[in-house]
Amino acid sequence: MFNLSREEVERAVAVHRRSIVVDTHNDAIGNMMARAGSGTRDFRLRRTLGERSSEGQVDISRIREGGVDCLIFAMCATGPVYRGRRLKAYLQMLDVFHSEVEKNSEEIALATTHKEVIDVVKGGRIAALLSVEGGEALEGDIGVLRMLYKLGVRALTLTHFPRNELGDGSRDDSGSRLTAFGVEVVEEMNRLGMVIDVSHLNERGFWDVMERTKSPVIASHSNCKALSSHHRNLTDQQIEALAKKGGVINLSYCGAFIKAGITRESIGEVSLDDWLDHLDHVIDLVGPDYVGLGSDFDGGCGFPGMDDITKVPQITRGLVARGYPDEEIEKILGGNNLRVFKGVMR
Ligand SMILES: [Zn+2]
Repeated sequence: MFNLSREEVERAVAVHRRSIVVDTHNDAIGNMMARAGSGTRDFRLRRTLGERSSEGQVDISRIREGGVDCLIFAMCATGPVYRGRRLKAYLQMLDVFHSEVEKNSEEIALATTHKEVIDVVKGGRIAALLSVEGGEALEGDIGVLRMLYKLGVRALTLTHFPRNELGDGSRDDSGSRLTAFGVEVVEEMNRLGMVIDVSHLNERGFWDVMERTKSPVIASHSNCKALSSHHRNLTDQQIEALAKKGGVINLSYCGAFIKAGITRESIGEVSLDDWLDHLDHVIDLVGPDYVGLGSDFDGGCGFPGMDDITKVPQITRGLVARGYPDEEIEKILGGNNLRVFKGVMR
């Protein structure tokens, strides 16, 4: 789709291969688990990480084809259906994740520190980080955060769509501040060395996080409000504040975040050029050190030409087409997030 010379195509291939490519948000774990009823074992695995599937957007074979090296796998059980059995749902997702990683240990490994990410990738395997999307998982108990940490979780998206014990999600924004428990979670995540994720958080809560956190934070899957006025996107002021703290905004492939008003039916109107406009916007605003990739694959996102993780090399071609030098492309593809991981995870 980009008009590249043969030399530019080769440059894009080389820089993509050389880079440690990081994707900060996918929902593959939940996508693999088909939920049904409320029995004791209330899901079945409809696909696995090890088998290349025509369903979903992320599995090991397709991660490899896309040249992606490090991914944050999110676990999300925030809907009302999980009320009263939420912790069990998270333990089931943890079991699926750890079991799949163990079954495919020659291809993929859990990483819990920056050094482990680097060692796993240099050893030729995919580095998998674990996150929880939605502080509902803690059920108001800071001890649960510490136990999730011990089970390998290294990032927490403080809220999902609705309000929870930590604060307001951006969809149900009442203008509320972070709660006292939300502040406690931020402080404990700083202490443990966990990555705070402000995607989904309402704006007032975002500013409370920025005021409290001693570590850089990420938005794992959000885009620019200046280009698409969706509640899930960040304002220019928020992006500047994130950058000032050394954090990263990771741009998702969600149609409505890229272009206002896009639905499943009109997703054909979104192209990689539109996504690259968000990237250009962040870089115009704060420079090339604070932006990365946060696909939200298997979470209902993607657009024509970027419909699964095999398509990620197209981004590198696009960056070459837009004139970015190699060292900036490496930062955008993963270097910026690796800096955050190094600063936060011990
Ligand atoms: Zn999300």
